[in-house]
Amino acid sequence: MADKRDYYEVLGVDRGADDATIKSAYRKLAKKYHPDMNPGDTEAEKKFKEASEAYAVLSDAEKRRQYDQFGHAAFDGSAGAGGFDFSGMDMGDIFGDIFGDLFGGGRSSRRANNGPMRGANLRTSVRITFEEAVFGCEKEIELTLKDNCSTCHGTGAKPGTSPVTCEKCGGKGQVVFTQQSLFGMVRNVQTCPDCHGTGQIIKEKCTDCHGTGYIANRKKIQVSIPAGIDNGQSIRIRDKGEPGTNGGPRGDLMVEVVVSRHPIFQRQDANIFSTAPISFAVAALGGDVKISTVDGDVLYTVKPGTQTDTKVRLKGKGVPSLRNKDIRGDHYVTLVVQVPTKLNEEAKEALRKFDEANGNTLSQPHEGNEKSKRKGFKFK
Ligand SMILES: [Zn+2]
Ligand SMILES: [Zn+2]
Repeated sequence: MADKRDYYEVLGVDRGADDATIKSAYRKLAKKYHPDMNPGDTEAEKKFKEASEAYAVLSDAEKRRQYDQFGHAAFDGSAGAGGFDFSGMDMGDIFGDIFGDLFGGGRSSRRANNGPMRGANLRTSVRITFEEAVFGCEKEIELTLKDNCSTCHGTGAKPGTSPVTCEKCGGKGQVVFTQQSLFGMVRNVQTCPDCHGTGQIIKEKCTDCHGTGYIANRKKIQVSIPAGIDNGQSIRIRDKGEPGTNGGPRGDLMVEVVVSRHPIFQRQDANIFSTAPISFAVAALGGDVKISTVDGDVLYTVKPGTQTDTKVRLKGKGVPSLRNKDIRGDHYVTLVVQVPTKLNEEAKEALRKFDEANGNTLSQPHEGNEKSKRKGFKFK
């Protein structure tokens, strides 16, 4: 994992490249290194896989965003978050897209459906708080999972009977027919309409699962959400998807994390942003203010003469990196000087005194000409 090349470097595009540039860069590499064009060349095969992986990530807006933020760690299963497995990915979709013209339109000759097939991935989501996203948490989610029916062991056939080979397709799950077209005879392959691709026909259905071979159960699943996860990122839980068919492995469960808004904190990548009010007196004279952070309140010493909208940085009070939770972003606080709205007589008097000692701004407009007062001009 460590010596993996940068995806942008693999495709030879710069980091700001748009989708079309990425696609055309991949097309070029894929054509050059495609195993069909380089039989037996393992170096070419390696290059082809590398480019395909880079393209799979950079052509997907969400995956690209994760990669830009976390690098290869975004997809490293061991990091626990957002990991994804290229072997389970349907590269067929990409090839159909990229090689449509090379291979004559979508690879229709897909594998027959009656071999072992991996189950489909399931998707769900879980809502967590802002703090839970920052520090990580354990969540329990409940969902309906299909399991192989124990009565018929997943065959769907009534115990004592067994499925019979489909006569229409001879158990292949596909039927081939030829058609006359403008360009001559065309061979077409279609999923068998009688057995729907399974290659088998169930004459007497299992009564427990109604012939589906599956029983649906409510299951509780523990999800470990790593510190630093962001809204919209997903966690892969292996083997909690749909069951495979004909002995194939289960698919995975993808849990998308939805992070609730926080009343004070906002987040951008690893940094947290908030505003904190300070009194006019503290702004002018300096002093300590309490600032809320995800680690609790901290005391910050405001310098004398601090202007409103001054931004201060609380180093290391941001969000931990998904890769290493000891590395944290920063918390940026915008100090907002509060203008008092409710003043008692004593405070008003003090403020007038303050003004007298400080340039007498309160009385100046009366001394100045009426025109400038009306227009709201200020004397400098
Ligand atoms: Zn059954
Ligand atoms: Zn059939």
